[in-house]
Parts: sequence; structure tokens; C-alpha cells
Amino acid sequence: MPVPKVKHVRASVVRGGGGDYHDQADGHWIDDHVASPMARYPEYRASRRAFGIDVLGTLVVEVEADDGTTGFAITTAGEPGAFIVEKHLARFIEGRPITEIERAWDQMYFATQFYGRRGLVVNAISAVDLALWDLLGKWRGEPVHALLGGPVRDELVFYATGARPDLAKQMGFIGGKLPLQHGPAEGEEGLRRNLAKLAEMRSRVGEDFWLMWDCWMSLDLDYATRLAWGAREHRLKWLEECLSPDDYWGQAALRKALPPGMLLTAGEHEATRWGFRLLLEMGCCDIIQPDVNWCGGLTELLRISALADAHGAMMVPHGSGPYSYHVVCTRQNSPFTEIILTAPQADRVQPAFHPLLLDEPVPENGRLKVSALDRPGFGVRLNPDCALHRPYPR
Ligand SMILES: [Mg+2]
Repeated sequence: MPVPKVKHVRASVVRGGGGDYHDQADGHWIDDHVASPMARYPEYRASRRAFGIDVLGTLVVEVEADDGTTGFAITTAGEPGAFIVEKHLARFIEGRPITEIERAWDQMYFATQFYGRRGLVVNAISAVDLALWDLLGKWRGEPVHALLGGPVRDELVFYATGARPDLAKQMGFIGGKLPLQHGPAEGEEGLRRNLAKLAEMRSRVGEDFWLMWDCWMSLDLDYATRLAWGAREHRLKWLEECLSPDDYWGQAALRKALPPGMLLTAGEHEATRWGFRLLLEMGCCDIIQPDVNWCGGLTELLRISALADAHGAMMVPHGSGPYSYHVVCTRQNSPFTEIILTAPQADRVQPAFHPLLLDEPVPENGRLKVSALDRPGFGVRLNPDCALHRPYPR
């Protein structure tokens, strides 16, 4: 069978949720005094949007083959990401057979290495890579998970991230992950408030429901250690992303300092096999949390996942959504998965990338049948009601 070639790569931007889930309106739990590394400055403490957490917005990459088949994917990269895709990455995709995904990844990564390696550039590479997988699946008429060798389980089991683990329990999830609200700059009073919130949630959810804390890079080693030991009596399951992602040494030290049985997780702002190699070889965490839309895409996540497996670590992707579900269901070291409750009050389940994608499967009673993913590619469509803008047309 002749293999189509990629005819066009298009990069567009869109605002309001979607791939950039921090891009939300006022009054959303995700921006309600959540601890961050910028909270050391009082003017940036109450709102992460104040320091620009939502500055990028969503990037949508579409790849169209010469037979008319089109794949697409999304990430957090906005207009600068669109520039990188149109002005630099497209040359490695256009005119090439749609099956050349490994070659495309290698060329995109090494052509941008002099200014890339992680962050915005790798976010853009991730979106192109995922769009190519979506295109391949659509052309072959198969879901992406089938292209990866097929599922190892019949359903996905979810924990929920949001401000209301008590409601997450009522919705059928296996656990709830709270955003930490107060960082070291808020002193002992902030530490007491953090622990009081955890105690309150534990009292609402009972003994066996998982409770975790997402610390979003906001702590130092001393504070994180005291927080962990304070949380011990409230049976915290894991502490997430406590320190700067650059501080591999601090993370390794923190893992050794935790109370027995408490897990340390990290990696949502890490990228590529080389970044995760450092996390794993230095013993920085028990669970790695690569974001498939940021870490280098699906092609790179498969390498990262294998590396984690060889180190005896679980790979539970950050944020999640359909791009993750197709991977998680094929990995035995991904026994459960995350969904961020993007509803403003975290009081209901809505699609992770709401409102940008149509047909996005969502868990019911905390579970999702893998058969719900049985549509070509990643099985989702762009919502025509979301106005895309292409800033660098060619
Ligand atoms: Mg996190």
C-alpha cells in the first residue's frame, strides 16, 4: 500500500482552557492561592496568573497528508510554539511519509538542541509528534493504543486532582490530590494551615481514600521534610514535585528523609529520556509523572516509560487526557492514572481539555473502559466553536 506523505503542517493558537489548563477565568480553584516558587514575592502569592502561569495559551498542531487524512494534537505553547513549528519543525515533516515518526522526532530534537532541550521547544515537538501518531492511527483506521501493541488492561482507574478530594471520593475516584496552598514564605502559620486542610480532608474522606499533595515546585528541602512528617498522621500517600525540577540532589535527599511508606513523585516539568534518566538514576522519586504533551510526545514517552520500568518505578502521566490514556492502557507500570478536575469548583468531571476537544472520553465512577478509546488515532476532534488563530501562515 502506498504510504501518503505529509502535505501541510499548521500551527494555531486558542485561548480559554484546552491544552493550557491554567488558562481559566476568575474564581477557578486552580488559581486560588496555590503555592508556587513565585510565592516568595507577596504580590504573586494569591494568584499564579499574576506571575503569568497562563501566558502561553494552547498550541494546536495539525498535520495533513496528501490523501486528505488529517491528524492533530495540542500542548501548552501558544504563539511562540506556533513560530517554532511553522518556521523550524515543519521542514522535517512536510514531504515525508507519514510513517516516519522516529526520524521526525530525532530531526526535530537535534535541530533545535542549540536552543531547545526542554520547556517550550519540547512542548512544540510533543504536539507535532502526537499529531503524527494521530494521523497514522486515522490513516490505518486504528486507535493509537493498538499501534503500540494493544492494552494490558480492560479499564483505567483514576485519581482526581482538585481542591475537593471529598467530592472526588463521592464521584468514585480512588484518591484525591490537593494543591498545596502555603509555601515556606508563609512561615509556621502557613504550615499549620496546610496541615489543618489535610486533616479536614482526611476527616471527610475516611481512612482508606488516597490523599496526596501537589506542591508545584514551591518548597525547600527543610520545609518539605517538616510538611511530610506533619502529614504522616493524616496518612498522606505522596508528596508531589516539592522542589525545583533542576534540584535533583535535593529531591534525592528528600526521598531519603520522608516518613516510611510515604511516596515522592516528580517529573511533570521534566522532559526527554535524558531528564528522566537523571530523576531515576539519582533516586529522586517513586513515581515519575511525565506529561505526554510536554515531555517529547508519545515517541519519547515510550522510551521514558521503559526506563522507569527498568528502575522499578511507576509511570503515571501528569494531567492526563486522551493522549495519555492511549499509552497508560498499554503499560503495566502505569497501574492508575490522573485526571485534573477542570471544572471551576472541582465538583464534577468534565473532559480534561474542555472545551477544545470533542468526543473526549471521561471516567465514570472513577473508571474508563479501554473500549471507549476504540476510535482511529486519539479518537478526538477539534471543537469548531473554539476559534483557532494561525499567527504564522505559510
Ligand atoms: Mg503536579
